[in-house]
Amino acid sequence: MLYIKTKLGDGRIVRSGIQENNTYAVCSECGKEIPIHLGEVFSADNADPLDADIVCPECTRKHFAKQKPSMEDIVLLATALCRFGYSKQILRLYDEFGISAIQELGVQDYGVYAEALLSAVSDRN
Ligand SMILES: [Zn+2]
Repeated sequence: MLYIKTKLGDGRIVRSGIQENNTYAVCSECGKEIPIHLGEVFSADNADPLDADIVCPECTRKHFAKQKPSMEDIVLLATALCRFGYSKQILRLYDEFGISAIQELGVQDYGVYAEALLSAVSDRN
């Protein structure tokens, strides 16, 4: 088991096991806590999994409400979600939209697809 070792103010040392369901990140915009699938983060093709700027689904939604997502936005969003361990949810959405790659989406589907991506990761727990 991997664990984190933290030295408290009184000198005691606390060890916390790193598990699939106890690893979190903080949204870089609103500070909300987001659950992270660490195992998948490290198994994904990740340049540096520990140095990632994470934005929660709600903040991403607000961003897309102001400015309609482009293909680039959707690719970035899907890539980011893969990096944070949501590759299964993204593959499931490919099936639902009848596509084998994001680039097959029509422009009219960008907004719906972005919303579906965000819902898939919000509903996970
Ligand atoms: Zn946020």
